Amino acid sequence: MNNTKKATLRYAATAPTQEQINSIKAVLSKNLQNEEVEIEAILDPSVGGGFIVNCGNFEYDWSDQGRAKQLRAELNTAALGHGEVISGRIITMLKEKVEDFELSIKGREVGEVTWVGDGIANVDGIEHAFYGEIIEFEDGTKGMAQDIRDDHIGCILFGDDTGIRQGTRAVRTYKEAGVPVGEDFIGRVIDALGQPVDGKGDIKESGYRPVENPAPGIVDRQPVNEPMETGILSIDTMFPIGRGQRELIIGDRQTGKTSIALDTIINQKGKDVICIYVAIGQKASTVAKIIQILKKNGAMDYSIVVSSTASDPSPLQYIAPYSATALAEYFMYHGKDVLIVYDDLSKHAVAYRALSLLLERPPGREAYPGDVFYLHSRLLERSSKLSSDQGGGSITALPIIETLAGDVSAYIPTNVISITDGQIFLESDLFFEGMRPAVNVGLSVSRVGSSAQTRAMKKATGSIRIDLAQYREMAVFTQFSSDLDEVTKKQLTHGNVLMELLKQPLEHPLAMHEQVIILIAVTSGRIDHIPVRFVREYKEKLISHFNYNCQEICAEITKSGDLTEALRKSILDEIDEFNKTIEDY
Ligand code: ATP
Ligand code: MG
Repeated sequence: MNNTKKATLRYAATAPTQEQINSIKAVLSKNLQNEEVEIEAILDPSVGGGFIVNCGNFEYDWSDQGRAKQLRAELNTAALGHGEVISGRIITMLKEKVEDFELSIKGREVGEVTWVGDGIANVDGIEHAFYGEIIEFEDGTKGMAQDIRDDHIGCILFGDDTGIRQGTRAVRTYKEAGVPVGEDFIGRVIDALGQPVDGKGDIKESGYRPVENPAPGIVDRQPVNEPMETGILSIDTMFPIGRGQRELIIGDRQTGKTSIALDTIINQKGKDVICIYVAIGQKASTVAKIIQILKKNGAMDYSIVVSSTASDPSPLQYIAPYSATALAEYFMYHGKDVLIVYDDLSKHAVAYRALSLLLERPPGREAYPGDVFYLHSRLLERSSKLSSDQGGGSITALPIIETLAGDVSAYIPTNVISITDGQIFLESDLFFEGMRPAVNVGLSVSRVGSSAQTRAMKKATGSIRIDLAQYREMAVFTQFSSDLDEVTKKQLTHGNVLMELLKQPLEHPLAMHEQVIILIAVTSGRIDHIPVRFVREYKEKLISHFNYNCQEICAEITKSGDLTEALRKSILDEIDEFNKTIEDY
């Protein structure tokens, strides 16, 4: 039986002595379960000082360069000791940052690129890589093992693929993907790998976190019990969102999905919430506009924008929401509340479909790969409200999904609907009727319900949702009839006023006390006498009247978060007083 393994030893300056060769042989055969090793020495000027030994798929780098790299890696690890997650397990996806190799005597597995294109590379010769492992290519580009087959592995690339060609060497790193995280990211615009793209210089990270991280377990969580106010009347009253909840925003194109998310971010000013907006596959001009809106409203002070535009290769679009969530987790595990917007997951699924097809995975329904459900469920499960033992932090997620012609039963929409805790359904028809935000009351829901509302909001809301539903039915029913009885007429007027009140301009979130006052006014029927076209003006006047003349009332609602009978009475009295001053409508 011939068990002899062949190894090549490359050297540049000095040939190894027989003694050195013997000791290398001993090391190799120990690593190879005592197989015999035969070493062939080759002169290779590219090695520099020292030498490199290749044996099967393994490479042992004892060159000066290799050792310097190793030393650097060790220094990096030491410096990151205070960081979030010990960097031993992860490695950043960036090209130039940490070149961290576990070399020493263990060697590393190397392979060769057999095919490259569209951000994907197939590598031959690496046999033991694990799913999600970072693979480094000769030119420094990093990729991630995404598909492990009998004869090759498929990698997605986190960088330019122009430096990679057939035959390029690829090396295992034995580590999973990670991104830099830290407080200094607040106020910045970064790409999917955590690199700044706003031209404001480097960001000092305080640690690294793995891109893929298991969601908190059941014991580490607590039920959602604190509101995450959007400042949008129709959402906060009927579909309240709580901290740690996942609420889907779904609708056709150009129905105001992004606007709702942005208004929610703007409304978090002074509420000690860190907001992360993730743009996936959007136009760069759209992202620039969004950043502009956030800046204008002073929301960048507590926000981070993670941008992967339509021109980024699909691996970057695919990874963006995961790295953004890693960043969010950093804050959550430090006890902070985070709001994260994924805009949008339809494009995310499309990017994933593109790279899956390139990896030659079998297409399933709508040509998406079989694991597209898991793609989003493992992402959204990471949003939660942590228990007090864990610091009580939270991640609230607002994923966005674009539908085609209102079809919520397509593959991706049904998947994401089933993972989230409710959805806000936006409708084109309503949008064009001028009902903006175009929330469809019948199809929207928040499964967390009123536990995500303050007591004041809960008490003030009353039966608004039912009133609206009744009104919509009635409006259709009575469209063509001319003589209506008094009760129906009244119901219709009330409904009209209600609909008008729920219209809200962009970038004008309402504070909780303002919403409570409006709700009390409308549910008590004190606005019904105002002609519909003046309702908006009336609303604004009423709010500023309270904000200027009744500061104690406003402060009491905000402070206690409750609505006692006495308080309700004084609000009603004040509204009556106010109504007297505007008799002229
Ligand atoms: P896309 O599908 O292109 O991503 P979208 O659904 O995210 O679109 P937005 O970009 O938020 O929609 O809004 C579309 C347009 O509607 C924008 O021009 C925005 O200014 C306008 N719009 C959205 N909400 C309102 C509102 N409440 N009042 C007035 N205009 C609005
Ligand atoms: Mg949008």
